[in-house]
Amino acid sequence: MVKCLECGTDLNIPEEPMIGEIINCPSCGIDYEVKKIKEDGSLEIDNLEVISEDFGE
Ligand SMILES: [Zn+2]
Repeated sequence: MVKCLECGTDLNIPEEPMIGEIINCPSCGIDYEVKKIKEDGSLEIDNLEVISEDFGE
């Protein structure tokens, strides 16, 4: 099970995930990309979107 890194919601992982696949968090809408599929079947995901941060503008 992979949880959203932002809100902790369980993400809908396809039965046969592929590297590069985009997974969308149903709760906060953040898109994640599958970076790596580990030997135990768990996924390593990376946030595709830069969270809006205050850069001091
Ligand atoms: Zn989320």
